[in-house]
Amino acid sequence: MWIGIDDTDSAAGMCTTYIGAVLVRRLQREGIPVADARLVRLNPNVIHKTRGNAAVCIEAGGDVATAFRLACACVEEFAEFEAADTNPGVVATGVQPLPDFYHAALRDFCSIEEAIEVLDSIEALYRGYKNQRGLIGATAAVASEFPDRTYELLAYRKEAAWGSRREVDRESLFCADEMTYPHTWDTVDREGDVVVSVPGTPDPVLFGIRGESPGWVREARSYIRSEEPACEQVYTTNQGTDAHLMVGTAGMLLEGRSYLLRGTVAALPATGPGGHVSFLLTEGGAEVRCMAYEPTKGFRKVVRALIPGDVVVVAGSYKGGSLNLEKLGISRLTDAVRTRPPICPACDRRMTSAGTGKGYKCRVCGARAREPDIERRERSIRPGWYEVPPSARRHLARPLVRGIPAWQQALCE
Ligand code: ATP
Repeated sequence: MWIGIDDTDSAAGMCTTYIGAVLVRRLQREGIPVADARLVRLNPNVIHKTRGNAAVCIEAGGDVATAFRLACACVEEFAEFEAADTNPGVVATGVQPLPDFYHAALRDFCSIEEAIEVLDSIEALYRGYKNQRGLIGATAAVASEFPDRTYELLAYRKEAAWGSRREVDRESLFCADEMTYPHTWDTVDREGDVVVSVPGTPDPVLFGIRGESPGWVREARSYIRSEEPACEQVYTTNQGTDAHLMVGTAGMLLEGRSYLLRGTVAALPATGPGGHVSFLLTEGGAEVRCMAYEPTKGFRKVVRALIPGDVVVVAGSYKGGSLNLEKLGISRLTDAVRTRPPICPACDRRMTSAGTGKGYKCRVCGARAREPDIERRERSIRPGWYEVPPSARRHLARPLVRGIPAWQQALCE
């Protein structure tokens, strides 16, 4: 059976993954074996999300009604019901819905009615609290399938510590990264010299370690010194897989969806107020503005080095009329050339234009020349893939350290 939970937290506290971890333990205590705990990231552009638009799915064996009762009890005990925008949803089903609803919630927008239709079609047990919005995420969670997956070990704080400063030894996090990278990633951001795996929000999470297998995240965890956690849960997740991206074309991008598209740089990148960098990409006669925001730090240097004519692949969400860059593939760099009037061989002075199509003339001796000086300038960037630093990475974005999937590479060639 599959148990789905979503929308239990608020900016003031709680985390759906914590409720998932508690439920795993309570199911096991009831003799219900748990096969998998999944942390399911959905469309990062939905407006009602608290933080990262996460839902939880627990795959278990046993009685659906018992599991549903335990799941509802957990949500009723821990969810932030008082928060205006917290509308929990709980689902339990012995029949897994088709993955279509998961894909829709991951890449598009869904309604509560659509979720209920799916749930009724498989005779699932479900409860939507308050305005029932959490049923969307809970339904998507039970419908989820991960052809590509990563893992996250989440350590949770004891209840008495919630809201207070987290005690996690910074050096030990850098050590965990050093000992296990590239099998784990985003524990720390070495370029920015910041810790990425310890949140600053008042929720129960102490730290989260992301990696390619349960073994590697546990190995990384073994180096971390911290306050004593209440419990730890390894989740299977679609984080770091680019599952949100669809191949797009510049003229057909829809607001709030995420794309990978190929095009040609149409205008020199410009740095605007706040340090945000933008450039125009053209493809098939349509243009799209691409943005690298200030938090993407050093990534902006790569973007600034683009010039008109460069052929690139861009990945990111289309919001407010621009594509917010998560990564950039440089397919072909155009020659950066500067054309100037030639130097007069007799006077050693630069000539001037003799008029349109008439070549160049030396003002001193009157000598003439047809061809200009063409100066090829060295480009500071090379073809290949570039990404935002870990501190600016979205949960679903696939880190380059995991390699480039064939469908993305094909677009970049
Ligand atoms: P939490 O840890 O509580 O899950 P969060 O940042 O993941 O926090 P939620 O509080 O779950 O955000 O809020 C997201 C809300 O949006 C949920 O009610 C969920 O059901 C809903 N939702 C998720 N994906 C979509 C979608 N694609 N279309 C419409 N609603 C969605």
